[in-house]
Amino acid sequence: MKCPYCNTEMELGYIQCRDGVSWNNKKSKIATFASSSLNAISLASDHGIFSGSSAVAYNCRKCKKIMIDYREDNTDRNSDL
Ligand SMILES: [Zn+2]
Repeated sequence: MKCPYCNTEMELGYIQCRDGVSWNNKKSKIATFASSSLNAISLASDHGIFSGSSAVAYNCRKCKKIMIDYREDNTDRNSDL
């Protein structure tokens, strides 16, 4: 994936969290409940007992931008587990 800001090839990686990875339009006072909000969008493409939730993410170190594609067919492409 090319960075939309500088057009450099972005680095594939993962954002991982034990309890889930989600986007919400409001910050929850208690992080555990953030993914249960009606407006929450799950970003996780994978979930395991030991690995937690992970979202595939592309990083541009030059622009310090991270992009997440949260389509359901966005599967784990580079996991070493
Ligand atoms: Zn960039």
